[in-house]
Amino acid sequence: MASITRALRPLSRTATSTSLRSAARQPMPYRLAQSTHAFSTTSRRREVDLSHLTPTPITLLSETESLMSDSVSKFASEQIGPKVRDMDEAEAMDPAIVEQLFEQGLMSIEIPEEFGGAGMNFTSAIVAIEELARVDPSVSVMVDVHNTLVNTSIMKYGDAQAHRTWLPKLATGTVGSFCLSEPASGTDAFALQTKAEKTADGYKLNGSKMWITNSMEAGFFIVFANLDPSKGYKGISAFIVEKDTPGFSIAKKEKKLGIRASSTCVLNFDDVVIPKSNLLGQEGQGYKYAISILNEGRIGIAAQMTGLALGAWENAARYVWNDRRQFGTLVGEFQGMQHQIAQGYTEIAAARALVYNAARKKEAGQDFVADAAMAKLYASQVAGRVAGSAVEWMGGMGFVREGIAEKMFRDSKIGAIYEGTSNIQLQTIAKLLQKQYTQ
Ligand SMILES: Cc1cc2nc3c(=O)[nH]c(=O)nc-3n(C[C@H](O)[C@H](O)[C@H](O)COP(=O)(O)OP(=O)(O)OC[C@H]3O[C@@H](n4cnc5c(N)ncnc54)[C@H](O)[C@@H]3O)c2cc1C
Repeated sequence: MASITRALRPLSRTATSTSLRSAARQPMPYRLAQSTHAFSTTSRRREVDLSHLTPTPITLLSETESLMSDSVSKFASEQIGPKVRDMDEAEAMDPAIVEQLFEQGLMSIEIPEEFGGAGMNFTSAIVAIEELARVDPSVSVMVDVHNTLVNTSIMKYGDAQAHRTWLPKLATGTVGSFCLSEPASGTDAFALQTKAEKTADGYKLNGSKMWITNSMEAGFFIVFANLDPSKGYKGISAFIVEKDTPGFSIAKKEKKLGIRASSTCVLNFDDVVIPKSNLLGQEGQGYKYAISILNEGRIGIAAQMTGLALGAWENAARYVWNDRRQFGTLVGEFQGMQHQIAQGYTEIAAARALVYNAARKKEAGQDFVADAAMAKLYASQVAGRVAGSAVEWMGGMGFVREGIAEKMFRDSKIGAIYEGTSNIQLQTIAKLLQKQYTQ
């Protein structure tokens, strides 16, 4: 297996060692296909014959994926780890980390190499998101949103011109945001009020978006707006807005409970004029695109929550099994502690199995909507439980703002909220089960 040093990209632009992009040459074949997914949370059943495949353990990674896992783990612990506490206190992402993410190829994991990307598969992205979250869930969500929501939207729904125009930028230095939620439309996302109107040679956007991840760092925004409100959600289209477009502004940066280094902002669009070519895909298809992309994106959030849970667990395990003694023994040797620690790890392993199974099913072209919803639901529950217990296992040391224990606990809360709340995941799972079991 290729070594970590071969896999890691140079942290300086002048260095010449091999990058993830070129070291990892085992991607799933990339298809620039327009999506054939039907709009439905139940998604169309696609019969794929997998009978020729020898079943393997679900969490077994290919050499490329292992390389990704090892190299991101090293990068995260060496380069991000020392900055986590300061970034959380400052509620800001260190720009040097954003630059390193691009240099490492972590902002272009699935973008084909011809557009400057790493040309790797979806599971590689999932592995990277998980490994980053083990150290900092804020950095992880930046990579998650950029790869699984923004890059994927352009790859799936953009035409050849859109690929040529946007993918090289997204691969090399422009952070992306995915702008669906609004002040009055969260769970009921397609009640959005942002309006688009046609101009002689393009579109004009007016409205506001809320809760937009990456927006302080982003230069590229996929904005959902209604072109024909008389058609309801069928009037929704997706548009591309660049940061320097007149009329676009960041109205407010939220101060949050967790993932504080990840920016979350309110955006205003006041007579934002964009050319025709900034329509993504087709008019009136925005709601289909959003649903399909978010179905995939949920696997990324599930990976983030799994990584977070493991990071919190490991941090506490190191402390109770190495550092802290009471009654003359390591506190991790008390059976009452051991049972809880074992329970936590078991739940993390179960969450990971759900995540990888959903990712593999997506890659195999199988229905994965329920799997993605179950993975996100369960992984966010596990993250909350394990990160909460980890604080207790460390006693007072878990409660102070020194290590990462209390931060991981705060960060874990977001898993049950964004990209569909836990209630919505349960609703999706129940709807699909009911369909399956209704005679
Ligand atoms: C840190 C952060 C980052 C985010 N990043 C982005 C982003 O990048 N892009 C983006 O577009 N959005 C983003 N969001 C928005 C996020 O997706 C929404 O917050 C989420 O969908 C919930 O919407 P809401 O906050 O309006 O809650 P509400 O919709 O007001 O929900 C409140 C409660 O009611 C429940 N509820 C609502 N409807 C139902 C129902 N039908 N059945 C049962 N229960 C229901 C919910 O489960 C929840 O518990 C982000 C949010 C946060 C907090």
